[in-house]
Amino acid sequence: MREIILADHAGFCFGVKRAVDGIVRALAEKGAAWSIGMPIHNPQEVARLCALGLMIVSDVRDIPDGARVFIRAHGEALSVFKELQDKNAHIMDMTCPFVQRAQARAGELSARGYHIVLLGDIRHPEIRSIQGHVDGSIDVVADETDAARLPKTRLAALISQTTQREELLASVASALVFRTEELHVCNTVCRATVERQGAVRALAGKVDGLVVIGGHESANTAKLRDIGLACGMDVIWIENINELNGGWLLGKGKIGAAAGASTPLWLITEVCTKIARM
Ligand code: SF4
Repeated sequence: MREIILADHAGFCFGVKRAVDGIVRALAEKGAAWSIGMPIHNPQEVARLCALGLMIVSDVRDIPDGARVFIRAHGEALSVFKELQDKNAHIMDMTCPFVQRAQARAGELSARGYHIVLLGDIRHPEIRSIQGHVDGSIDVVADETDAARLPKTRLAALISQTTQREELLASVASALVFRTEELHVCNTVCRATVERQGAVRALAGKVDGLVVIGGHESANTAKLRDIGLACGMDVIWIENINELNGGWLLGKGKIGAAAGASTPLWLITEVCTKIARM
């Protein structure tokens, strides 16, 4: 049997667990519910939820009046809540409290006259939800190079997508210091992200290879892969066991396993059990 060392804090974080448990409970008690976009970035777990009665649409306009609607952990813009209220929807708001904190800080500081600089992936739903809580000016940057290109402003506030690396947040803050007279930095990276990233670093030097398990659209899973590579590990990122090329395991006796915050325990167990026997 091959030895598997599972990273501490692998799999569902507090926010995703709360959201998934909420959907399962609501579906069991009330029947069908709707979600705007994938409720979590894990296709296998989403398929399980859809089999229980969850329906996914890409646009709020596709939701029928009076429907029960689930707001995912990434949150939604205030305008989406307004549209749902206009439809008399029954809203189950499962926005993660850490995301709500980032939304609230962005909204408050914008109202106080700060230009908001948001660190994150502009295509990610969490970034769109935070943008949707800001009335004033806002820029989204991916890194310190983007930040260094911003025009100079008097007041700026830096806020992070919850799944970014804290080191990157510090680099972007350093770049912005030269572009503003007064900079307010909010560290809105969540603890679950910090713990999962630290757990991957702790595996460096102890394993022959690292398997990162999680959806290919999952931002926090991508960061685990990046950190593994930065630590010099031989890393493979898979959504499920079918994506694992057996050749990658050749010569590797000890495998580290890490999983993103939206990867369910059943999937982690399945992958680890099969790798141990391959
Ligand atoms: S990764 Fe952090 S912010 Fe995102 S859902 Fe999990 S606990 Fe909440």
